[in-house]
Amino acid sequence: MILYDFDLERPNTLEEASALLRDKGADARVLAGGTDLLPNMRVEVVRPATVVSLGAITPRDPVRETDGTVRIDALTRLATLEGSDLIRAACPMLAEAAHRVAGNQIRQMGTLGGNLCQETRCLYYNQKHDYQFKAPCYKRGGEVCYPYPNNDRDTCWSVYMSDTAPALIALGAEVEIVGPGGTRRQPVEQLFTGSGLTPHALGAGEILSAVLVPPAEPRFGWGYHKSSRRGGLEFGMAVMAVGLTLDGDGATCRGARMVIGAVREKPIRLTATEQAMTGAKLDEAKIAELAAAAAKEINPLPHHGFTKSYIRDNIKIHMRRVLSEATARARGTGTAENGGHHD
Ligand SMILES: Cc1cc2nc3c(=O)[nH]c(=O)nc-3n(C[C@H](O)[C@H](O)[C@H](O)COP(=O)(O)OP(=O)(O)OC[C@H]3O[C@@H](n4cnc5c(N)ncnc54)[C@H](O)[C@@H]3O)c2cc1C
Ligand code: SF4
Repeated sequence: MILYDFDLERPNTLEEASALLRDKGADARVLAGGTDLLPNMRVEVVRPATVVSLGAITPRDPVRETDGTVRIDALTRLATLEGSDLIRAACPMLAEAAHRVAGNQIRQMGTLGGNLCQETRCLYYNQKHDYQFKAPCYKRGGEVCYPYPNNDRDTCWSVYMSDTAPALIALGAEVEIVGPGGTRRQPVEQLFTGSGLTPHALGAGEILSAVLVPPAEPRFGWGYHKSSRRGGLEFGMAVMAVGLTLDGDGATCRGARMVIGAVREKPIRLTATEQAMTGAKLDEAKIAELAAAAAKEINPLPHHGFTKSYIRDNIKIHMRRVLSEATARARGTGTAENGGHHD
């Protein structure tokens, strides 16, 4: 499919890019690696008149700040993240999540900021519309929702597929955002609106500049799993990310963050199961109970051919393993090849 004509800008700084985006308004989009935006422009589900490329801006290497926070430039390629010694040592769940995205060619181009800001997906949306359907759906400004005909025009149940977002939320990470009003920081989970129509809470001219991962507490452990139809080059059916800390006894859960991605319009925190886990002794029986509770708490959208009950069953099975791995890592018995500790 041939791309339509558009204007291309190539600023030298994020501040210039932000000013350009603000001036051009809703008709402009920022381009990082282009692995999400360009396919979407090809099928014309988005049709910006101006593309503001960040290609002239070189990302800095990830660094550990004096308080232990790891600062990662939003323009960092996913391949850089998965191969970075610092990321693998300080936040191995993020290295693992980056490794799970698509295939190597896409990870060589795709950036962390682009991964977080990727569009939601729906089988009925990611199509050239004159190919399969006559009328565009609500998300394309039309009058219909194909999979959910009873939805009103303000409701779109397209699914947010980022593999890194659940990991970052489970790690308690923040994003730094550059915009016309200066720079601000907020938790990653506040980046999402929960609406499939406009999934990201970014204002006019706002661009992600960095991701900040806090240092882990003592006896921290993580678990991560991406279920998908095949092992690679495939979007998730469900992504599970857990970060937990244990008390000094090495058994009682002090606190946890459980996140499920690729099942709703944004990554979902399982706050009820997190609360049930806090203060509990994480033995095998309790972990099985918590995995079942997680599968019950989440309300997945059926998507890409997977039914709600199939996704729930999958979460119940894999969450048990994810929780066991997180607990083992927090106890110091996690395996080195899986990344060991978040130190
Ligand atoms: C075949 C295929 C398979 C894929 N599989 C996966 C997968 O398994 N998991 C997964 O998570 N993704 C997958 N993707 C989606 C995509 O490739 C990745 O999410 C990638 O990380 C996007 O990064 P990018 O830099 O290429 O983003 P771009 O395409 O450049 O941008 C994506 C969106 O984010 C916006 N954006 C980019 N950078 C910023 C920024 N710094 N601040 C604000 N907005 C920004 C753009 O305007 C655009 O709307 C796949 C894509 C393809 C084509
Ligand atoms: S769920 Fe959203 S993207 Fe999919 S057809 Fe309905 S309105 Fe369109």
